[in-house]
Amino acid sequence: MEQKVNLKDLTFDELEKFFLNIHQPKYRAKQVFQWLHRGVTDFDQLTNLSKELRHQLKEISYISTLSIAEKYQSKLDGTIKYLLRLNDGNLIESVIMKYKHGISICISTQVGCRMGCNFCASTIGGLVRHLTPGEMIDQVIFLQKDIQDRISNIVLMGIGEPLDNYDNVIKFLKNVNHPAGINIGYRHITLSTSGLVPGIIKLSKENMPITLSVSLHAPNDKIRNTIMPVNRSYNIDKVLEACKIYTEITKRRITFEYAMIAGVNDSAENAEELSTRIKGMLCHVNLIPINKIKEKEYSRSSDKKINTFKAILEKKGISTTVRRELGGDINASCGQLRRGHSEN
Ligand code: SAH
Repeated sequence: MEQKVNLKDLTFDELEKFFLNIHQPKYRAKQVFQWLHRGVTDFDQLTNLSKELRHQLKEISYISTLSIAEKYQSKLDGTIKYLLRLNDGNLIESVIMKYKHGISICISTQVGCRMGCNFCASTIGGLVRHLTPGEMIDQVIFLQKDIQDRISNIVLMGIGEPLDNYDNVIKFLKNVNHPAGINIGYRHITLSTSGLVPGIIKLSKENMPITLSVSLHAPNDKIRNTIMPVNRSYNIDKVLEACKIYTEITKRRITFEYAMIAGVNDSAENAEELSTRIKGMLCHVNLIPINKIKEKEYSRSSDKKINTFKAILEKKGISTTVRRELGGDINASCGQLRRGHSEN
């Protein structure tokens, strides 16, 4: 028997074709799309469809759900961290962060990750599988329901490497941006990558004005090779070249993420070298005091080091911020909850 399709895995256009194929009018797509993204979990809730059609849909398709396995709310800043269970039992994480300008969600794009960054908990067990477009949008749909408030920004910075799951991520972006659904503007979406060059180039041609965030974390290949194995495939020169192409085509400013790791990449000399390499680019640097994960010996740079690093970059005319440490009391860094769970 053919496998049932998760209707949330289809883009709006694909959903239209789906209904034409079963001899239904095209406008069914819009009706069903609206229901799905409002979070219905059962075809019988689709009250503007006939009983026969609902029955037919049940035979050939299904509506994916997500259940909350664990939930932790920070007492410091209201950040909520979720461990979520997919239909096949796999676990992923999402985080809700509250800012003055609105509510952001950080979503996962894969179960596990194969990038191997050695300061990151998400990659320890390797890649289990890609998330489908529906499983990505379910994080937005069901957490919006859970918090009973509107999510206004999305960051693809949870478990996984989004550009390693390229086609599904693009479908997800199209659906979450669609006016008949959740309708979040591309400018309110940030995709973070460890630097997969072919994906960056491809993304630049999608005509989607999202913000690209690149996890650089080092000023030279020697250091980057030791913390990010992906650098052996795409070194800093190649990544920066791709970033220049991206900004030329999209006219969008890139964010460079730079995790501050004590004694590894946080010296004044490192800051000088970094500023020389990215000077003149349409970019912004975000310094991230690294979250301690218990499997690794790395620790966070001191505030003094971070401030000196920032001052050096700013003196060279590079706009720099230090990421606020949200959810410090709930292990909010990516992969830690799932990791903790698999150990128990
Ligand atoms: N794979 C993508 C997106 C997921 S990781 C990427 O690499 O960008 C999201 C961000 O969190 C990346 O910048 C990543 O390097 C960073 N990160 C991972 N582990 C961290 C830790 N322990 N402390 C601080 N940042 C971490």
